[in-house]
Amino acid sequence: MNPSFSTYLVNPPFGDPGLYVEIRWARRALLFDLGDNAALSPTRLLRAMDAFVSHTHMDHFIGFDRLLRIALGRGKTLRLYGPPGLIANIEGKLRGYTWNLVDGYPLTIEAREFHPRQIRTAVYRATEAFQPAEGPFEVRPEGEPFPVLVDPMFTVSATSLNHRIPSFAYVLQEKFHVNINKERLHAAGLPVGSWLKEVKQHLWDGKPDDFRFTATLYFEHRKEEREFALGELKESFVTISRGQRIAYVVDARYDKENEAKIVALAQGADVFYCEAPYLDQDADKAQERYHLTARQAGLLARKAGVRELVVFHFSPRYSGQDDLLYKEAQEEFACIGERG
Ligand SMILES: [Zn+2]
Ligand SMILES: [Zn+2]
Repeated sequence: MNPSFSTYLVNPPFGDPGLYVEIRWARRALLFDLGDNAALSPTRLLRAMDAFVSHTHMDHFIGFDRLLRIALGRGKTLRLYGPPGLIANIEGKLRGYTWNLVDGYPLTIEAREFHPRQIRTAVYRATEAFQPAEGPFEVRPEGEPFPVLVDPMFTVSATSLNHRIPSFAYVLQEKFHVNINKERLHAAGLPVGSWLKEVKQHLWDGKPDDFRFTATLYFEHRKEEREFALGELKESFVTISRGQRIAYVVDARYDKENEAKIVALAQGADVFYCEAPYLDQDADKAQERYHLTARQAGLLARKAGVRELVVFHFSPRYSGQDDLLYKEAQEEFACIGERG
């Protein structure tokens, strides 16, 4: 089965944190955190027009400038999501430059800042020299984690962690996975191609079985328009299975409340990306700086019952000792039931 999301860290574990999630076949990506992103090519960055910011400490936000620069003049809309303070920080960044010659550069920035009960929104347009335009306040759904972006194919939800300031952790949940059986298509004399993307989109949009649509099929020497009923295709070629779940947790201290929120967020994740800046021998330092240790990352992964744990955001104090951080996290993750 081909997973819909392929995920990788933007930087090596001692570099700025960030997760790039490619939605395969969709030419679209999601970016979690905006730290240094020089490692991402312009093409990749331009696909990531939804950026989820954990908080605006420099190592999580300095990459905003590069994203902005690359997106300028591309006719794009850049959507940013994050905790209280995000809008002020975006405005601070935008006010740091002169914008008198960008009125021909169509770029729109939409910001959504999630407070405990409401969502503050703002829009900035290059054609208006990025003068802030406050949008309407919206009601934030109650509970944790709460939805931040709802797409027909997936939902991104967040939970607010204590990092002495709010630090958002995120989870990406694919609604369900659609797998199309290529052998059966072949046996039925049907080609693969972009029409299958349309089929998937109709399924994610929740179209009924009797929904009929016309698709363009490309055979080796000809193309053909053919009408299908969604239900028939589903019956013959489609397998629907559990969707992928990817969790991203950075910058939070270990306490009961954070633990409960992280475990709920990461519950059953296929991959759990978790910060692990400190070794357990420096747990007091970690606590003081509102960060996790590698052992705590392993413990959280175990409690959440995730399939795979990836630790990152290592403190430079352990330069050359990354193997110790990996080992500590994985040992704690694997030692089922030995410790609380
Ligand atoms: Zn931080
Ligand atoms: Zn950080």
